[in-house]
Amino acid sequence: MNQDLPADVADALATLLSADTPVNVALRRQVPHLGVLERCTCGCGTAYFDLDTGKVEPAPTGPGTLVAAEAQLLTEAGECPGEVLVFTQGGYLSWLEVCSWSDDIDVTLSVARDWMQPRSTPERPASG
Ligand SMILES: [Zn+2]
Repeated sequence: MNQDLPADVADALATLLSADTPVNVALRRQVPHLGVLERCTCGCGTAYFDLDTGKVEPAPTGPGTLVAAEAQLLTEAGECPGEVLVFTQGGYLSWLEVCSWSDDIDVTLSVARDWMQPRSTPERPASG
């Protein structure tokens, strides 16, 4: 159990990295060593990670920045107000991004926890 990781981030990572793929398994092993460097100031919950890469094994993603896991948000009313993405750089957890597509629904990581629908698509290169 990692005391440094805020509960909303820890819960989101547990949901997002729940697949039994080699990449997810390796990334789950990094979580106990993970801290949060800074969070987005708008309150959305986006978090930039601090990870001692000397203490963990990289996930087998190869070099570069990838979307290692993602979840679409689906509310009880059937709306899709956004998504949550986990990015890795060189196989190491790098940041978690909360994206909002809605003008009406305030998407934050703490509310997103109840709405996350993890996708089973494999990791893909980050665009942009
Ligand atoms: Zn933000």
